[in-house]
Amino acid sequence: MTVSVIKNGAIARVIIDNPPVNAISAAVRQGLLDAVRTVEADDAVKAVVLSCAGRTFVAGADVTEFDKPPVEPHLPDVLNAVEACSKPFAAQIHGTALGGGLEIALACRWRLAAPGSQMGLPEVNLGIIPGAGGTVRTPRLVGVEAAADLITSGKPVKAEKALALGLIDAILPAENADQAAEDFVTAALGAALPEITSARPIGQKDEAFWTETAARVKRAAKGNTGPVEALASLKNATEVSFAEAMAFERETFLRLRKTDQAAALRHIFFAERAAPRPSELKGVTPRPFTRIGVIGGGTMGAGIAVAMRNAGLPVQMIERDAEAAARGQANVEKILKGDLAKGRITEAKYAELIGGFNAAADYAAVADCDLVIEAVFEDLDVKRAVFAELTRVCAPDAILATNTSYLNPDEIVADLPGPERFIGLHFFSPANIMKLLEIVPTSGSAPDVIATGFALAAKAGKMPVRAGICDGFIGNRILKLTRTTAERLVVAGAEPSQVDNALQKFGFALGPFRTQDLSGLDIGAFQRKAARGRGESPWAPVADRVFEAGRLGRKTNGGWYDYDTAGKEVAGTPAAVAEAIAAARADAGVTTPATFSDAEIVEAIMFPMINESAKIVAEGIAFRDSDVDLVKVSGYGFPRFRGGPVQYGRAIGFAKVAEGLEALAAKGLADGPSEALKAWAAKA
Ligand code: NAD
Repeated sequence: MTVSVIKNGAIARVIIDNPPVNAISAAVRQGLLDAVRTVEADDAVKAVVLSCAGRTFVAGADVTEFDKPPVEPHLPDVLNAVEACSKPFAAQIHGTALGGGLEIALACRWRLAAPGSQMGLPEVNLGIIPGAGGTVRTPRLVGVEAAADLITSGKPVKAEKALALGLIDAILPAENADQAAEDFVTAALGAALPEITSARPIGQKDEAFWTETAARVKRAAKGNTGPVEALASLKNATEVSFAEAMAFERETFLRLRKTDQAAALRHIFFAERAAPRPSELKGVTPRPFTRIGVIGGGTMGAGIAVAMRNAGLPVQMIERDAEAAARGQANVEKILKGDLAKGRITEAKYAELIGGFNAAADYAAVADCDLVIEAVFEDLDVKRAVFAELTRVCAPDAILATNTSYLNPDEIVADLPGPERFIGLHFFSPANIMKLLEIVPTSGSAPDVIATGFALAAKAGKMPVRAGICDGFIGNRILKLTRTTAERLVVAGAEPSQVDNALQKFGFALGPFRTQDLSGLDIGAFQRKAARGRGESPWAPVADRVFEAGRLGRKTNGGWYDYDTAGKEVAGTPAAVAEAIAAARADAGVTTPATFSDAEIVEAIMFPMINESAKIVAEGIAFRDSDVDLVKVSGYGFPRFRGGPVQYGRAIGFAKVAEGLEALAAKGLADGPSEALKAWAAKA
């Protein structure tokens, strides 16, 4: 039985049992409705405790129903029945009560929760709003302001905070919670019953509150309409009757479910769930890892070391010499002290984290590490020498990984003994914060070595995505193309700030030029220099000139932009950049700079990105198209609510993207559509 009723004297217990997380399926809704009828018909029952079997209360909607039309009975009707039942319900929460799970609890007369349990309304994260009373009942319990925070942020709160807010009535003891819940209800029956939630008064706010809150919510949502719509539903709830507010909320919920944004957010939600468990590694047992070696203590090495320490793994760092080892140690301490200063960790935690870390100059110190991650200079010869040394000192079954961004991992380890133990583990900067981890098998990587990459990601709270070997793997390959496309636009006539602003309005965290100023123009310049050394001819006529003018970005107080002494960007294109642009335009024979609308800029950047994504999937560099989306969304500031480049292309229509690329190619702004994209267009 998905929902069962156990009668035990005056207090009946209704138990939802729908593993693994008691999601609200049609069977749960029907079961609840039947349970209401059962207890209503039984004179012996005076009140009901509603709880869940397994590890959590109802954790949310049934994700398998997401893309399907709603099935009766609908949750708002079921909850109205719960609320209207003459036998008052108490929700007994443990684990998490999210979305519809919390809405069930809101319709009960009392909410009792286990210590540490969490509750929230995360619907906005999926581009929708609560659809069963979340925006209508919550403010009646916690007030309008707290409700606005809960609903528009989508963030859950812990039981202790929920109690302070008035969202719940009591925290149950950790032991004998069932008995405590029943005792609570028995005692409560002896006094006057609280009003049902829908009959409680709702607070009023003036227009200034709504205007200010709406502006703040809109700013924070960065283009995601869910929070804005959720606030509108909450405001409406303060102005009309309960029934009218419920109807308005439901209508909004049903309308938003069908939007491209909701589809995009569902797509990323499913991609994130699928990524950590690749089907091709099913049944493969990862190798154990208990002690991590990190070679190189610069930006990445230090960040990776902290990420590993945060995962509870002891870390041995190796640098070139004693002086460099001391710098590596200092780099790690600096990150951890930053965490301490921000209150992310306590003094005791700091001591524990730094205590499990050591930096040395002798490779013998990593002899007992079972997983070693190399993050030395991006130079093939340096990396080859490091790996040769590692194969000498480490055990034959120790996993040896490279964090290279652009080099070919196969070339780094070519001819070294034990090809099955090598792999690429590509972290992102800052490695202790960024979630993305590209897992790049070499041609010799054993399945259990690849599986260990995924296990490491799970242990360190990273989002693993498998990527094949090519220039830049998945993420940097697209990044490189985007930089080229952005520069093509500038040479054709756009200003860098116009390109950045258009993409930021589209939802990117930062435009391509501002990103370069942040990471440093020297990184790209050195890569191009190395490529030229290999006989390639990378195209970056403006970036090359800006770099040559000594403008490396924020670290030199100027790159594509100027910055004032407080680090604030100065409006306008700096003279040196304008000169570089003019020279590049002259070389390209551009006499009359073209003008572009923001929409044209977004197309000129996005369509080549979609094209490249199709190629990456067709070449097998990404196993699934959703992996490309995951990489861009979790590692490159791509707007989550657009679902990544592939999902965005799907929403536009791949045929239309291919057509658009033909037009862009005719203007010299992009390459024409690839065969891979044409194949997607033909299939769609
Ligand atoms: P970095 O210059 O900050 O650090 C490199 C460190 O390696 C230096 O401290 C250097 O002393 C040390 N080193 C050099 N040779 C060594 C050797 N033989 N033994 C031990 N240590 C040695 O560089 P970084 O930015 O940390 O990049 C390191 C690697 O990570 C590169 O392959 C880079 O492409 C990759 N990566 C960088 C980023 C990024 O955003 N910086 C992101 C992902 C990957």
